[in-house]
Order: sequence, then structure tokens, then C-alpha cells
Amino acid sequence: MTTATAAEAAYVVAALLFILSLAGLSQHRTSRSGVVWGIAGMVIALAATVGLASRSITTTGLVLIAVATAVGAGIGLWRASVVEMTGMPELIAIMHSLVGLAAAFVGWNGYLDVDAGGHTGQEITGSLLRIHHAEVFIGVFIGAVTFTGSVVAYLKLSARIKSRPLMLPGRHVLNLGALAAFVALTAAFVARPHMGLLIAVTVVALALGAHLVASIGGGDMPVVVSMLNSYSGWAAAASGFLLANNLLIVTGALVGSSGAYLSYIMCKAMNRSFLSVIAGGFGGEAVVASDGADQGEHREISAEETAELLQDASSVIITPGYGMAVAQAQYPVAELARKLRERGVDVRFGIHPVAGRLPGHMNVLLAEANVPYDIVLEMDEINDDFAATSVVLVIGANDTVNPSAAEDPASPIAGMPVLHVWEAAQVVVFKRSMATGYAGVQNPLFFRENSQMLFGDAKQRVEDILRSLDASAAPVPAMVGTNR
Ligand code: NDP
Repeated sequence: MTTATAAEAAYVVAALLFILSLAGLSQHRTSRSGVVWGIAGMVIALAATVGLASRSITTTGLVLIAVATAVGAGIGLWRASVVEMTGMPELIAIMHSLVGLAAAFVGWNGYLDVDAGGHTGQEITGSLLRIHHAEVFIGVFIGAVTFTGSVVAYLKLSARIKSRPLMLPGRHVLNLGALAAFVALTAAFVARPHMGLLIAVTVVALALGAHLVASIGGGDMPVVVSMLNSYSGWAAAASGFLLANNLLIVTGALVGSSGAYLSYIMCKAMNRSFLSVIAGGFGGEAVVASDGADQGEHREISAEETAELLQDASSVIITPGYGMAVAQAQYPVAELARKLRERGVDVRFGIHPVAGRLPGHMNVLLAEANVPYDIVLEMDEINDDFAATSVVLVIGANDTVNPSAAEDPASPIAGMPVLHVWEAAQVVVFKRSMATGYAGVQNPLFFRENSQMLFGDAKQRVEDILRSLDASAAPVPAMVGTNR
């Protein structure tokens, strides 16, 4: 068997492992094996690619590849081992930016290799050359859009820049102009390639990527993250065409299509139009933030009073959000649920599809803390039950329980489905201050008559409640001499 045939066979095995990996990652129970399949596929893919390349490159080239692989793997291992769960979205965003950057470099390399005289392989002529030029242009465009889009997403997700949308005047005209420029430049480049045209499309794509993501509001960021995931897949597929690497094409298409489908699911969950979000919030002009409106007074409650409320409750729904992840409160929250259930209280969890900063973020945390799956319900499964619930504990959630999304058409998050926590008899909101959530929108829930604020770190407050429950359950020690 030749090296090329062995490499192609290894690519087929790697592609199958990637498909198994995606299938595994689609469910909690199989997600760990999904990760293992993915690692195995990537090891095989890397070994086959280096084996294939070793036929035509020098020893120095191989040493450089080994050094680059070791440095990349080292950085990847280090970042993945130190990252907190709350930092995962920004880590993913920055990884996507690297895929985009690599695709743009591969595109530029394709141009320099063939058109600027560096090509050492077979001569490319006629229609094949035109296809090659189109591949270069499209690869550089998708790669550069993905790169800057992901960098801006990283800055927003890590709160280094504001999550509010950038509303430049005529922003849709700017986006459409950039797309029109891309089409015109592609046609010109395919007809007569010139480095100036490639530089122009790189600059246009870099600006478009940054502008598209900067124009998207905080509430729509989950869709952006999955959309950039999809873009990075298509960028990798474009590189695959340029490098004539079948595995890269297959893998890119897998990531691109699964990311696009995830974006579609997220849009449906958030009642957003897919096109509107990818076009940089197209159609959002009518929205005027109503943050400044006087909401009235909020009321506070202590951990001890919350424990008393819970003792008298027949049913409790816990709706966790990003703050539970920040506080790492999932363990005491799971303990609280267990204790209340032991006392005969009907306890369930209501999970919003975009709670936290990653799709499935809350489910992962609750599974980590061994909360039984059967009491963890999705928003659609539980939303009708709030009205008949005694107490709702909102643990570090804000945007996902904001009634203005359902009731105020002028709200920036209007139309986004939310958990109807305010319909319960009593609502206790755990957070540290009256600050807004990720979308930067004031939450009228905090000022409702049936709502009370329990301020402080969510983990500490839940632990205080557990202590109060234990104290009230402990038998009162017999006092010496009281019955004499
Ligand atoms: P939010 O981000 O709206 O609010 C979280 C709240 O947690 C804050 O108001 C904060 O208030 C509180 N908090 C922070 N730290 C603590 C702590 N240690 N203890 C107690 N409370 C704390 O959360 P949601 O989960 O409701 O909404 C998620 C938002 O993130 C949505 O807007 C969603 O669109 C967006 N998003 C989601 C992604 C996803 O894939 N799931 C990805 C990107 C964005 P305070 O500071 O006063 O304590």
C-alpha cells in the first residue's frame, strides 16, 4: 500500500470517528465518549497528514511541524486545564478566531504558491486555475470574517467590551456594501488575479466580521457563538479545497453544518430570525431600550426568612442562570433540592435554553452536582407550571427570567421566550446587586410585589439557607432542670 493510499484510508477512519464524536456529544450520557472519539480522530488525522507530507518536505520542515504541533498542543492543554466553566464561551470564541486566521493564511498561501511563482507541483491552467482563484478568494473572505468576528465575540463574552449592540448609522448599507464589494472583487480576481484585489478583500472581510458581531446585542450572543462555530467549519472546508485535503473538507462540512443547525435551534428557542441575526441584528431598529423607566422599590429577604418560606412550600422551582455558574453554587443548590425533597416538597429545575454562557451550560453544572435528570425540565416543559408553584428560587439568572421580554414590545429582548417565574406565589432572586444581566436590560421582576431579593454570592446564600434548614430540623436539646 502506498503512503497516499494509507493516508486516505486513515482519513476515512478519522472522518468516521468525527461523526461518532458529534453523535456522542449530542447527549450528556455519551458526551465523554464523544470527546474521546474526537481526540482519537484528530490523532489519526494529524499522523496521516504528517506521514503524507513527509514524502515531499525536508527534515527541517518536519522538525518545524513537530515544534509547531508541540507548542500548539501545549497551549491547548494548558488553556483547557485552567479554564473555568464560565470562561468556556470566550475560549471557544478565541479558538474559532484561530481557525479563521489559519483559513485566511491558507488562502494567501494558495495565491502566493500558484500565482506569485512559488508553485512547485503540477502547472494549473484554464478553468482549473479559475476555480483555484475562486477558492483562494472565498477562503480568505470566510477566514477573515471568522477571525475578526470571533475576536469581537471573545471581547464581548469576556466583558472586555460592552455587550450592547453597536448601532452605526446605515449599518445595513455598510454590510450589504461589503458583500457587494466581495462579489465584485471575486469576479475581478477570477478574471485577472492581482495581489491588490486580495489585499482589498482581506481588509473588507476583516471589517465586515468585526462589524457584524459588534452590531449584535448581548441577548443574541448565543446565536453568534454557534454561528461563528459554523463559519469556522466552512473556513476549514475552504482550506481543504485549497490544500486538496479530503479530510479537511469533510471535517469542515461537519462543523459548518452542525454549527448552522445549532444556530437555527438557538434562533427558534429565542424567537429570533436566523437571517436577522447573521445580518448583524437586521430589523432591530424599532427597539428602544426602556432602561431608564422608574421601576419602583425592591424588597429584600434574608437567608433565614427564605428557609422559612421553603419549609412552608409545597412546590419549588429553581431557575439557575449565569450567576450560579460564577458562584459555583451547583453543589449547595443540589443539596438544597435533595433536602427539600426529603421533606416532601416537590422540587424541580426550570432550564432556559440560553441560560449561562454556553448551550447546555446549566444542564452540565447540574449533572456535575448529581441532580437527577428527571427533575430538570426544559423551559417549554415547565413554563405552564409556575402559576401553581409556591416558591421560585431564581439563582443568578436575569435575562432569562425578565418579564419585559414577554410584556414590553419596546424592550431590547422583546419576543425572546423567558421563564414565567413571576407567575408563582413567591419569587426569591439570588444575586449580588441590582445590576442588569448580560443583555444590559433592567429587569422589572425585581420590583414585583411577589418578588424579594436575596443579595450576596449565590453559593454563600444557599449554604446559609441549608444551615437554617438544618438548625430548624435539629431536635431541641432537653434543658437541664426545666421539668422540675
Ligand atoms: P444573565 O447573564 O442575564 O445574569 C446573570 C446574573 O447573575 C447577573 O445579573 C448577576 O447579577 C448575577 N451573578 C453574577 N455572579 C453572581 C454570584 N456570584 N452570585 C449571585 N449572582 C451572581 O444570566 P442568564 O443566565 O439569565 O442569561 C444568560 C444571558 O447570556 C442571556 O442574555 C443570553 O442570551 C446570554 N448568552 C448566553 C449564551 C449561551 O449560549 N447560553 C452565550 C452568550 C450569551 P449581580 O452582578 O448583581 O450579582
